[in-house]
Amino acid sequence: MRLILLGPPGAGKGTQAQRLVNKHGIVQLSTGEMLRAAVAAQTPVGLQAKDIMSSGALVPDELVIGIISDRLDQPDMKNGFILDGFPRTVPQAAALDELLKRKHIRLDAVVELRVNESALLDRVETRVAEMRARGEEVRIDDTPEVLSKRLANYRTLTEPLIHYYSERRKLLTVDGMMTIEHVTREINRILSAIGAVEPKGVKAVTPARKAAAAARKAARPAGKKAAKTARKAAKTARRAAKPASRGTKKASKAGRKTASAARSRGTGSAKKTVKKTVGKASKKVTKKRAKR
Ligand code: ADP
Repeated sequence: MRLILLGPPGAGKGTQAQRLVNKHGIVQLSTGEMLRAAVAAQTPVGLQAKDIMSSGALVPDELVIGIISDRLDQPDMKNGFILDGFPRTVPQAAALDELLKRKHIRLDAVVELRVNESALLDRVETRVAEMRARGEEVRIDDTPEVLSKRLANYRTLTEPLIHYYSERRKLLTVDGMMTIEHVTREINRILSAIGAVEPKGVKAVTPARKAAAAARKAARPAGKKAAKTARKAAKTARRAAKPASRGTKKASKAGRKTASAARSRGTGSAKKTVKKTVGKASKKVTKKRAKR
């Protein structure tokens, strides 16, 4: 899944991006976070961006485009990504289109979080208070004065992207004034509706799921039982594949396929698949024989 999250400061992009990351096992690319990290590490990019960011202005397009281009080449991008805070200007969006085209990456959607401006200051104030309570360092651009500058920038430079992506039929708008939970549900609903989410049953490999699977595997008694089930299922499938090969080509293929599935999985569900497909295959063969 490849997404862009669009919305003014305080719209909830970071919160929703994090939830999408957890649910779908994709990577969040926040240019704001990357720039803050560069400032903290005092890299050449950070030194260039520091004062611009604290004033609430946007750092030069070339700079963020370069960061994103490098990041998209990293191997962890293969599961998908969610861009948060980029693109922020029409030239950035055009550059992103070029980048994606060159890298043969297709964008699924641009999710716009629409919020009332009057709520934004409150939200940012709450965010600041929560960060202070957690003992975290508060962003230097999270003051009412700088926020109004960031909002003005959003209106003039970023809002035109709504039209840009709507023209390209990529825009999905969600009401960002609902509760966090509702917004998440709505985003997932519309992403499913456009087919950006895998169908039910096919689960993304998230780090949490990976860990759970590893724990389940470790808990199994030396895998003996699983191996036995796998051998048994494979045997049944092979047996079914034999007469099927004398029957139809399709049946033999199905038999082989399930045999291999059973061998590699050796689970109850593989066994069930074997029974089902084998049943079908042998029925076909029996029918054919009966005709003869
Ligand atoms: P917010 O969305 O709350 O304004 P971000 O964390 O996304 O905050 O960005 C913080 C600051 O980082 C911006 O005000 C800007 O100076 C800089 N920045 C982030 N992304 C971009 C971008 N795509 N283009 C230019 N500047 C950016």
